[in-house]
Amino acid sequence: MTATETAATLPWPEPPTTAEVLARVDALGPGWRERQRSLDEAVEFPHENFAEAKAAGLHALCVPTEYGGAGFWLPGRYGPWYEVLERMARWETNTAQLIQVHNHAAGIIAWHSTAEQRDYFMPRIVDGAFCASLGSEAHLYENGAEVLESELTRVEGGYRLTARKGFASVAATAKYLMVWCAIEGDTSYASRMVFAVVDVDSDGVELLDDWQMLGMRSTISCGVKFQDVFVPDDHVVGTPGGWITGDPRTFSCAYASNHLGSAQGAFDFLIEYIGSRPDLSGSEAVRVKLGQMDARLFAARACLRSTAARLDRGDDPDECEADAVRTMHLAKDAVLSIPYEGFDLVGARACHERYPLGQMMRDARTFTLHFRDDLYVERLAQLALGNGFSAKGGRGGSTPFEEGSGATGQATAGA
Ligand SMILES: Cc1cc2nc3c(=O)[nH]c(=O)nc-3n(C[C@H](O)[C@H](O)[C@H](O)COP(=O)(O)OP(=O)(O)OC[C@H]3O[C@@H](n4cnc5c(N)ncnc54)[C@H](O)[C@@H]3O)c2cc1C
Repeated sequence: MTATETAATLPWPEPPTTAEVLARVDALGPGWRERQRSLDEAVEFPHENFAEAKAAGLHALCVPTEYGGAGFWLPGRYGPWYEVLERMARWETNTAQLIQVHNHAAGIIAWHSTAEQRDYFMPRIVDGAFCASLGSEAHLYENGAEVLESELTRVEGGYRLTARKGFASVAATAKYLMVWCAIEGDTSYASRMVFAVVDVDSDGVELLDDWQMLGMRSTISCGVKFQDVFVPDDHVVGTPGGWITGDPRTFSCAYASNHLGSAQGAFDFLIEYIGSRPDLSGSEAVRVKLGQMDARLFAARACLRSTAARLDRGDDPDECEADAVRTMHLAKDAVLSIPYEGFDLVGARACHERYPLGQMMRDARTFTLHFRDDLYVERLAQLALGNGFSAKGGRGGSTPFEEGSGATGQATAGA
């Protein structure tokens, strides 16, 4: 293959500017917005959006530049990642979340792999092998505490995996199921955790038909069963505990970006609707509410930009994560309150399903439950009280948590 041919097949032969990526997102966004209602109604995965996203290189945003990716979610490239996520969610939150999950999985595989594993997985991902990220063990048809127990058992040439995961976004179209699991042992779960990259066609893998949800319906974040699945050594990525001890990255700003973009999308709708109704736009009471919403969006966005800049500068990861948690709190508040309060401004007719606000509200309510806000902000209080803050060692949306051990109990790995 000549250099020109190689470059032509790579999503990003040169690292793109943020403006270039945003332009591609904006070219696809209207189509995503148009399909969002029917996909929600049919509980159907956005295959067409994904095909378009791949053609536009959005599947390779967190693939390192040496493999033709955009190199996002790495030092110096956090800011662009969050801006692009925000823009995607402004058009369509479900698709944005799915592209986020896939890219984070690709970025995790890239970071934690050996050179040989990277050379194996990265070109395949660039070619269009999508990745899901399976951390959660909250099962949709069962209640009770979420307990992480997925373990790899040693056998000749690799491991066996018997496990059940819940909420596996992207699984519906994935080639690789990146399973957060521990090598068997007695020490804390987080310290034994690696990533098993399981081919979805492996014997013993079963996708469950259990995704009947209030919102984020087109993500089809179904449960997945693994029954005695063989995972060869070269598909086990990372050293035990490497996510906690060897990788400063978290998902917090990405969640915040999606929430902020979705909140902006709802605000855009309110402005359009109210702008076309002089009786509403002429009301000072309505304008005051809109102005408050506008300021709320600005506050969350300013925090997001500031936190991204700190990450890009390489500031202390614990301090950055405290800022990321503050940002996520503000972004969640914006995305939960703007559609909900917006209904008071636009009234009952805006509840008609031809308008997007109702779905935006359902999607926001569902997606913001990936990890409860109270549990994050309580950690900020601990920090203010002088009790410290650990990005990866405390309860958060990015780390497994074990009750009683001072580490965490929940792997909200996906998003
Ligand atoms: C749309 C969507 C997509 C997702 N995609 C993925 C994915 O791709 N991969 C993935 O791994 N996960 C994914 N998740 C799963 C998510 O990260 C969580 O694992 C899941 O939402 C937990 O379910 P639950 O809230 O019912 O858990 P529960 O543990 O039953 O929590 C119930 C409530 O109690 C709170 N809580 C939990 N423990 C405590 C405690 N000790 N004290 C006080 N309160 C507590 C929780 O925050 C929650 O509000 C997704 C979730 C959503 C909504």
